[in-house]
Amino acid sequence: MSERDVMEYEVVIVGAGPSGLAAAIRLKQLSPETTVCVIEKGSTVGAHILSGAVIDPAPLDALLPGWRDNPPPICVPATTDEFWWLTKTGGRKLPTPPQLHNHGNFIVSLGATCAWLAPQAEALGVEIYPGFAASEVLFGDQGEVVGVRIGDMGVAKDGSFKDGHTLGIDIRAKLTIFGEGARGHLTKQLVPRFKLDANSDPQTYSIGIKELWQLPPGRVTPGHIVHTCGWPADNATYGGSFLYHLDKDRVAVGYVTGLDYQDTRLSPYELFQQYKHHPHVKALLEGGTILSYGARAIAAGGYQSLPKCDMPGAMLIGDGAGLLNVPKIKGTHQALRSGMIAAEHWVEKKTPKVLTRDCAALP
Ligand SMILES: Cc1cc2nc3c(=O)[nH]c(=O)nc-3n(C[C@H](O)[C@H](O)[C@H](O)COP(=O)(O)OP(=O)(O)OC[C@H]3O[C@@H](n4cnc5c(N)ncnc54)[C@H](O)[C@@H]3O)c2cc1C
Repeated sequence: MSERDVMEYEVVIVGAGPSGLAAAIRLKQLSPETTVCVIEKGSTVGAHILSGAVIDPAPLDALLPGWRDNPPPICVPATTDEFWWLTKTGGRKLPTPPQLHNHGNFIVSLGATCAWLAPQAEALGVEIYPGFAASEVLFGDQGEVVGVRIGDMGVAKDGSFKDGHTLGIDIRAKLTIFGEGARGHLTKQLVPRFKLDANSDPQTYSIGIKELWQLPPGRVTPGHIVHTCGWPADNATYGGSFLYHLDKDRVAVGYVTGLDYQDTRLSPYELFQQYKHHPHVKALLEGGTILSYGARAIAAGGYQSLPKCDMPGAMLIGDGAGLLNVPKIKGTHQALRSGMIAAEHWVEKKTPKVLTRDCAALP
């Protein structure tokens, strides 16, 4: 069997989502000599990120002050907000809760935004490796995190080695930053190992299903944002929809269901399908075609479920730490900001040790 290759960096970042890329960019902005590598399991950066998100641009303004002159490919200023309580055949428009006012925010494709951030990180000297999943955490003699192991290539379903089997590389670093997103494969092993959640509530999760639609010309009002609660979820089930009007006759439409639902026959996908047949939504979507779709977990526990975000040799950032702001239904700005804070902390202190309350104080 061939020998396992080892690569060494000062910092390795797992995940090229908004949090990981913001951490990488900030590290290089502050300390160009720091060697930084980002591992991404998607075949390209952005491939595993769901599109169509409303983002609060404040952290982008701080990270890349000129970004508005060179915006991501899909970036529509938010114009109007509506909030509805739905019934099966109608509904009532309610006052928009303050957290859901989107004035000053932008509707973007988050996948395209990550693909837009990646070359900016590379231009600063960050090495990004898409197509490689970090499959194991590497620990040192004192039990500290010392990097990650990339999964082997050429392994058959039954675990046997196929022709061309190659051992995954070990990536060793002084600091490993985990930006794996909600319920990350490695993060969920680290939390119990370092008892990071000893003083927090258990994390809770929702599932969000999202579709990008191309509609007949003239139906879309770019920048318009609609959130709903009520039907088709029953009163015991946490759930709601979002509808974001993009440019070029496109909308992003989706439905979130809390995964603590009591009815074992409930299907989150079925709820989404029912929602799309509500008279308000059907009239909008009729005659359109689906361009892309996906589903992903959302860490929904909020502040009470925030774990400790540091451990010897490593830090958690973004959704992996559970930093999504639940009342705002937004996590991207927190992901970007937490990546930046992790980088600033490392450059200044050269230790991962942070106070959880520093992360909890994120806007
Ligand atoms: C349906 C839905 C709608 C949403 N709408 C909004 C919205 O409107 N506004 C908003 O601000 N936020 C929204 N969010 C939340 C937002 O998407 C997240 O807060 C944000 O993407 C978190 O960024 P992140 O970098 O922490 O994680 P992610 O964006 O999840 O990125 C993690 C990356 O790490 C990679 N990865 C994971 N594990 C590994 C591994 N072991 N090895 C290598 N790579 C790995 C993944 O492939 C992925 O690219 C929504 C989420 C969902 C699910």
